[in-house]
Amino acid sequence: MVKVYFDSDVKIDAIKDKTIAVIGYGSQGRAQAMNMRDSGLRVIIGLRPEGHSWERAKRDGFEVYTVSEAVKMGDIIFMLVPDMVQPAIYKEHVEPNLSEGRVLDFAHGFNIHFGLIKTPRNVDVIMVAPKAPGPRLRETFLSGFGVPALIAVYQDYSGRAKETALAIAKALGCTRAGVIETTFKDETESDLIGEQTVLVGGLIELIKKGFEVLVECGYPPELAYFEACNEAKLIMDLIYERGISGMLMAVSETARYGGLTVGPKVIDEHVKENMRRAAMRVRSGEFAKEWVDEYKLGGEKLKRLMREIEEHPLEKVGSFIRRMSGLEKSQQA
Ligand code: NAD
Ligand code: MG
Repeated sequence: MVKVYFDSDVKIDAIKDKTIAVIGYGSQGRAQAMNMRDSGLRVIIGLRPEGHSWERAKRDGFEVYTVSEAVKMGDIIFMLVPDMVQPAIYKEHVEPNLSEGRVLDFAHGFNIHFGLIKTPRNVDVIMVAPKAPGPRLRETFLSGFGVPALIAVYQDYSGRAKETALAIAKALGCTRAGVIETTFKDETESDLIGEQTVLVGGLIELIKKGFEVLVECGYPPELAYFEACNEAKLIMDLIYERGISGMLMAVSETARYGGLTVGPKVIDEHVKENMRRAAMRVRSGEFAKEWVDEYKLGGEKLKRLMREIEEHPLEKVGSFIRRMSGLEKSQQA
């Protein structure tokens, strides 16, 4: 079993007199900045002066500076701009202002692990990756709990890098839920493999193909939507709360028997073989290279794929049903 760190294992002292410069004020930036501030730390924000986030951070009561200024003022620099823009921002604004003994903190290992950001020897490079989107990190903190997080040390110049990472995780509220130590390599690769094979890629295709088969069999798309998509959330909620066995005990006996006997024939060894191939492409760096090249060329392929999904009948009927049932209004980014 891996070691899990909780509140009582960690002291915040390592960072209590430090200035935290949060670069980027999006999903993670806003939530992390607010949680750190509520934990009694001095937090400043570094942004592009022309960006939308500037006013928002000011309205939330933060001191806001340009990225270069914030990096000069900060002892600990949180890199919370999107992964694909980090290398350019790092080169232009962070690297020239980074002095000895500073700490660079990431929420995902992508740029460090794939060598797209190369840091000097005389700083600490750490990761504190909350395992939830920013709004959830904030919401659970406000309710007195937290979300789990991974921490990792890539470079330990000060000899105290791990202590710093744990203290940050505590200030974010994550040690209330449990913090696990990992490496930049494991966090990055497992995150990409998981999102491609299961969470984002796998789920979309499972739902989409399941919907298509129901419609091809002649059932109305509305009914197919309920069966292949809407109910997936109900089943996932049960798995999340009770595990797979708990979910199986909550569905009918017929669903239990049908699911256990037919499931492995649908998602068969050959799907697992495809998953292994996806994992290999992540581990070899081939996927990262493809994505960085695509992004540099303007992201046309991604835009085309997004348009294709938006036009899929599942999305058309889904939007209708969500509006009908009042769900679409309450959707958040
Ligand atoms: P985001 O897209 O929500 O926010 C990015 C912010 O960066 C923007 O609000 C803006 O303030 C700034 N920004 C955007 N483009 C910029 C540019 N060209 N120049 C300067 N500033 C710019 O990003 P995010 O999802 O919070 O991701 C930040 C980091 O957190 C990434 O490393 C990501 O992998 C990691 N992470 C995200 C999540 C998540 O659920 N969103 C979870 C864990 C880790
Ligand atoms: Mg991910």
